[in-house]
Amino acid sequence: MRLIVTGTGDAFSAERFGSSALIETAQGFVAIDCPGCPLAMYRKASERSGIEIDPARIHDLILTHLHADHAGGLETMAFHRKYMSGGAGKPGLWAADRVMERMWERLAPSMDGRGSGDKATNSLSDFYSPGILHMDSHTKVGDLVVEARWTKHSIPTVGLLISDGQTTLGWSGDTEFEREHAQWLSQADLIIHECGQSAMHATWDQLSTLPEELQRRMRLLHVPDGVDLPEGHMRQLSDGEVLEIAPVMQQ
Ligand SMILES: [Zn+2]
Repeated sequence: MRLIVTGTGDAFSAERFGSSALIETAQGFVAIDCPGCPLAMYRKASERSGIEIDPARIHDLILTHLHADHAGGLETMAFHRKYMSGGAGKPGLWAADRVMERMWERLAPSMDGRGSGDKATNSLSDFYSPGILHMDSHTKVGDLVVEARWTKHSIPTVGLLISDGQTTLGWSGDTEFEREHAQWLSQADLIIHECGQSAMHATWDQLSTLPEELQRRMRLLHVPDGVDLPEGHMRQLSDGEVLEIAPVMQQ
């Protein structure tokens, strides 16, 4: 599996885009989260990675939760797709039920086309093909198989295990440190874990108590601006970085 890390910042970053990634598929890309300024983010990631990223080729988006540094780009992506992408069609939009329940509530004031009248002319399904991520089984997203697990965060948020049949990516989602969550993610060949310094986030000190074998398979993002993490197995990712995920036995 090849992954382009499109953003590694946290909610307050003035230097990096919000934590997010694209998985390359035979059909195009699957996006993990969609922070603000997505078109600039994908252009920067193209420049840095050398991989051409046409936003019109993103065929599915998986949303972990509704904070702006993860979901703030949904309006831009929706309008870009509908009006600027020359018939690329509606992308899939995947989220767990409690995240999806409030998706349109977040987007409607700027997207429902109410104008000066009181009748909405658009709904979420005019822009996206919404799909629910099952919590107790697998969900097929394009050619990928996705599992989700609730994290400990201030609003409903999931972590993800995403498999292409060869390798599996673990994506922590925003979460307080939780050993059971790390254990669940350890099924993956590579784990991308958030690392913050405040409440609602996992700290480096906490993550460094995990087994060394697991730390070796972990990369970190969502680290606040200006924070230098200690040297160790858990390397901090940067915007535009490309990760080739190999089966864990071959690493
Ligand atoms: Zn968050």
